[in-house]
Amino acid sequence: MTTSSSDRINATHDPALRSWVASANTEATDFPIQNLPFGSFRRAGTSEPLRIGVAIGDQALDLKAVGLITTDDMNVLMAMSAAGRQALRAAISEGLREGSAKQAEWQCALLAQSALEMAVPCRIGDYTDFYTGVHHATTVGKLFRPDAPLLPNYKWVPIGYHGRASSIGVSGQAFHRPLGQTKGPNEDVPSLRPSHRLDYELELGIFMGRGNALGEPVKLDDAESHAFGMVLLNDWSARDVQAWEYQPLGPFLAKNFASTISPWMVTMEALAPFRVPFVRAAEDPQPLPYLDSAANRQQGGVDVHLEVWLQTQTMRDAGQGPQRLSQSNYCDAYWTVAQMITHHTVNGCNLQSGDLLGSGTQSGAMPEQAGSLLELSAGGKKALTLANGETRTFLEDGDSVTLRAHCMRSGYRRIGFGECQGEVLAARS
Ligand code: MN
Repeated sequence: MTTSSSDRINATHDPALRSWVASANTEATDFPIQNLPFGSFRRAGTSEPLRIGVAIGDQALDLKAVGLITTDDMNVLMAMSAAGRQALRAAISEGLREGSAKQAEWQCALLAQSALEMAVPCRIGDYTDFYTGVHHATTVGKLFRPDAPLLPNYKWVPIGYHGRASSIGVSGQAFHRPLGQTKGPNEDVPSLRPSHRLDYELELGIFMGRGNALGEPVKLDDAESHAFGMVLLNDWSARDVQAWEYQPLGPFLAKNFASTISPWMVTMEALAPFRVPFVRAAEDPQPLPYLDSAANRQQGGVDVHLEVWLQTQTMRDAGQGPQRLSQSNYCDAYWTVAQMITHHTVNGCNLQSGDLLGSGTQSGAMPEQAGSLLELSAGGKKALTLANGETRTFLEDGDSVTLRAHCMRSGYRRIGFGECQGEVLAARS
């Protein structure tokens, strides 16, 4: 017996709910009472231990201070059963509602988000990046193989590689342009130099909750009970390094110098109203039986609107805000969250609480919906002209990239993911 998304929609999703935290009731907030994403933080400028809390409007509620949790360890919290997670969400929602008797007591456990230093929300043991953006895979494949852009395995097996967890940082991450070994098409030998084809990738990250024991695969209809929630993920990529190093074992140093995530984990419970059917085109191979189920077909997708914004150093100096480069939607992904989890564990591989799965770059079908500069600039051949007249093929020093996302559906409150921002600094001299 599996749970459909309509079973999972409950009183915590009621669009009429309002919070006694006034900023949670504004139209523009990403964090109304229907969202309640989890994060780790301390008061900025202190070295206090990290606290666990949920975002509500422009505030954060310290969950231990209000007695709703006893652990300081996010990985322990994330490993809770699905029923435990739902009960915690219900208790937070009730306490934050207008008219709650908890208001006087809980008010003291609120901290302004503007006064917080956010941390990577949990210990990320392992990080796997998938490649579920079929439009991205097709466009990038075309740059190398115009006649056969997708490799023959793409439509059968969820492609991924094991990435590196240690260099994952939270929004606000700034990093030096990486050095790497590259070889231009007209060069006889490679050399070590700063990457000159530095790119971003618009992705979602799925944080694992309850793990599976080594040797025990997770069945498709159980898979989502092992997922805790989702964040934005910028998988910064050095395309010139990648092109030279990737064969035959895949990405290595082109990807592991920095990856940036948004700090608030939007839970699978919060996403329940935004589930959509997973549709595999009739002319494509249908998923093998272990990657197929009625529940996955009915509601395996998630309707998440995604955006990339760029602010150059010149824009910042002129007091200009960021410019939107592209928009896409996660419902275009070729494989679902459940299919990624089930495929990852089908050989018995154990996923653990706090592991991170990247969705792969999420590009739409139209060229302007591309989730990377590699696509938007046609492999660096066609420069983008920005509103202030600057041009870009790849990222330049001082460029700040911000990913944003939100979910909207008629009859439900809009929820957002907050920001995933990062900045490119000059290479170390
Ligand atoms: Mn990626």
